[in-house]
Amino acid sequence: MIFTVAIDGPAAAGKGTISRAVAARFGFRHLDTGLLYRVVGVKGGDPAEAARSLAPGDLLRDDLRTLEAGQAASRVAALPEVRKALVDFQRRFARAEGGAVLDGRDIGTVICPEAEVKLYVTASPEVRAHRRWLEVGGDEARVLAEVKERDARDMGRADAPLKAAADAVVIDTSAMGIDEAVGTACAVVERKLVKGAQAGRT
Ligand code: C5P
Repeated sequence: MIFTVAIDGPAAAGKGTISRAVAARFGFRHLDTGLLYRVVGVKGGDPAEAARSLAPGDLLRDDLRTLEAGQAASRVAALPEVRKALVDFQRRFARAEGGAVLDGRDIGTVICPEAEVKLYVTASPEVRAHRRWLEVGGDEARVLAEVKERDARDMGRADAPLKAAADAVVIDTSAMGIDEAVGTACAVVERKLVKGAQAGRT
């Protein structure tokens, strides 16, 4: 079965948690596509060359989760040559046999417009900054500024800007706990799987 769940949205909205839970619940593979851009951002040198030479082992680096890596990722992610170099890997992952969950910024709009399920997971900047601050500590006002700066860059870039696909289901997690957000996402996937199975029988 080929079945893609595309999960897009801004930083710290809950995409990662929801993606991992959906993948585990349905036995699908999961790709956190932000890691690809983080690797390119922290590698240094020519970003397009770093994107072209990216190896699976790079995703295991232990310096990818910092605020700095997120900012570096968002800067190189605005470069069309970098995005282009990462498209094929993501598309192959999305359409390989067995079901896949990909989370990022442009999965439902650019990488896999044919995805069977598209979710746009969002929350207010203040809620997202507070969640990120609980993880990384430091000055909460600085974390909020960083979240807003990254939103502006990701939503404002010319190539593959962050936005909800027209046919995405929007999940606003501002006032939701993890269980409710995961339950909402899983229900959307379940409905689509059931519909597909019914269509297959008729
Ligand atoms: O999701 P994460 O915070 O790890 O992403 C880091 C940065 O990588 C984002 O701010 C965004 O600029 C970029 N990104 C992207 N397209 C994706 C995934 C991430 O442009 N599909």
